Amino acid sequence: MITDTMKKHNYSAGPCILPQEVFEKSAEAILDYNNSGLSLLEISHRSKEFIAIMEEARALALDLLGLTGKGYQALFLSGGASLEFLMVPYNMMKVNGKAAYLDTGTWAHNAIVEAKAFGETMVVASSKNDNYTHIPKEFVIPADADYFHCTSNNTIFGTQMKSFPKTDVPMVCDMSSDIFSRVIDFTQFDLIYAGAQKNMGPAGTTLVIVKEEILGKTGRAIPSILDYQKHIKAESMYNTPPVFPIYASLLTLQWLKNQGGIAAIEKTNSAKAALLYSEIDRNPYFRGAANVEDRSFMNATFLLENEDHTPIFDTLWKEAGISGITGHRSVGGYRASMYNALPLESVQVLVDVMQDFERKVSGMNF
Ligand SMILES: *Cc1c(COP(=O)(O)O)cnc(C)c1O
Repeated sequence: MITDTMKKHNYSAGPCILPQEVFEKSAEAILDYNNSGLSLLEISHRSKEFIAIMEEARALALDLLGLTGKGYQALFLSGGASLEFLMVPYNMMKVNGKAAYLDTGTWAHNAIVEAKAFGETMVVASSKNDNYTHIPKEFVIPADADYFHCTSNNTIFGTQMKSFPKTDVPMVCDMSSDIFSRVIDFTQFDLIYAGAQKNMGPAGTTLVIVKEEILGKTGRAIPSILDYQKHIKAESMYNTPPVFPIYASLLTLQWLKNQGGIAAIEKTNSAKAALLYSEIDRNPYFRGAANVEDRSFMNATFLLENEDHTPIFDTLWKEAGISGITGHRSVGGYRASMYNALPLESVQVLVDVMQDFERKVSGMNF
């Protein structure tokens, strides 16, 4: 067992921290699922035990998002968020139709690349020329687009959409890195997808929430495994689902529900982000990488004012038991990912390290 003193303050961007009780309960389920004498990994996905897990996970996802009874279906698929980049146009772009995309980062860009294989893919705005340090806000969504696609949180660049456009065009959102982290009116979206490994569970499953009425309108022949309608009909078991990531996701959703749901976790997430960003802004040896108004509450990107100090800072945070804050290569510097399961105390440890670093470095200048 990992003792408290060994456990790191885990800022990894994904796969990433999950609640400790999820690790413990999923470990138990691998050894002996619910005192059945069988591991979760060796029972049929058609067994009543696993069907109950799948049904609860699908229902709880909708419940937490406030989408129960509103015409939505929740699916737990495989292939990561990256497979949704092509499943979305396959299922939503009409033959000879077109789609509109907002380009706010690497993942948004990757989604655009896939859509282009299906038809006219308009980029309504992009912040690429500014290395994605902000979210474009002035753009027009063509009324004849089959759908509009955006990315709610840009995991790599540390920006987050604080509001979403009002449009009659069906809205699709990649929420991989901030789903279940903040209160949003989720009914404004027709399709939401999220790879589990940022805020919901282990890598290996993707949550797709889709409003059923938007499907079946493209005129395309869709391969079965890529057809949302087939997955809905099969109750998310068209083929063998990734049983372990789905079970661990269910445990995380149950944990979230017990915390008081999204509204409660949002309060903690806001407190964590406020604590870290106020230190980034106060401390003269650091600066934020993203535009202040677009800063992500999940992934805070920041840089040292003087890169020569890198070894000093790196030694300090490692000594404090911090893990996973090295920035993505396309931004450099540091990225502190503060997903739902990261406690406020871990952020305080990082802030203490930044202040310690300030004292050390300012002392060196005398
Ligand atoms: C990580 C991430 C992805 C890619 O997810 P995979 O499951 O690895 O395909 C897509 N979009 C966003 C916003 C992400 O953070």
